[in-house]
Amino acid sequence: MKTIGLIGGMSWESTAGYYRAINEGVKRELGGLHSAQIALYSVDFQPIEQLQHAGDWDGTATILVDAARRVQGAGAEFLLICTNTMHRVAPQVEAAVSIPLLHIADATGEALVADGLRRVGLLGTAFTMEQEFYKGRLAERFGLDVLVPEAADRAVVHRVIYDELCLGRVESASRSGYLDIIDRLAQRGAEAVILGCTEIGLLVKQADTTVKLYDTTAIHAECAVALALEGRRAGEG
Ligand code: GLU
Repeated sequence: MKTIGLIGGMSWESTAGYYRAINEGVKRELGGLHSAQIALYSVDFQPIEQLQHAGDWDGTATILVDAARRVQGAGAEFLLICTNTMHRVAPQVEAAVSIPLLHIADATGEALVADGLRRVGLLGTAFTMEQEFYKGRLAERFGLDVLVPEAADRAVVHRVIYDELCLGRVESASRSGYLDIIDRLAQRGAEAVILGCTEIGLLVKQADTTVKLYDTTAIHAECAVALALEGRRAGEG
């Protein structure tokens, strides 16, 4: 199997979910005591969060490029950035290493298209919901029509991510708020909603709503498992 490279820590609350999901996927596929070969570099999130909110994306790119080189140096054969938002600097990261980047929007877009969806809602940080690096990629590469919540709802989604979920706080009032926002997206015609922030799956589960949800952490982790095991037959090491 291939060694999976992870840049984590954004936040570590969701990176823990990646680590579990990838290992569970390899165990499911190979059985026994098999587990994933992973090279993880986990950053300190606070300086990154400050640079994001200051609009200093070049500053964040410097940190992620350094992390990507470390992960490649540790033997990773392909790379995941374990956050939707930081795909804002995916081009700089890709250019700095020779291993391929498994882009979270591509993994998600492929899952949506495979299910025949055309019009989808998107929840994430303000950066993900409002800038083009993510929804633009879904539109251009996958022909998806991406709806984001209205401004007041976007502010709620963003605040809960940084003030609660990235700190490990899962509040039922915030879950209700998110479910209302998901319903409003569905009323506007969304056939499904992308949980386009890797912590949202900690708050909202498919069992909470009849609207079909696409959890980017689960989708990205599952794609990593498939790529790590590509071409490998059962019984091989
Ligand atoms: N993990 C989040 C995401 O998927 C937000 C944290 C970050 O800004 O990276 O976008």
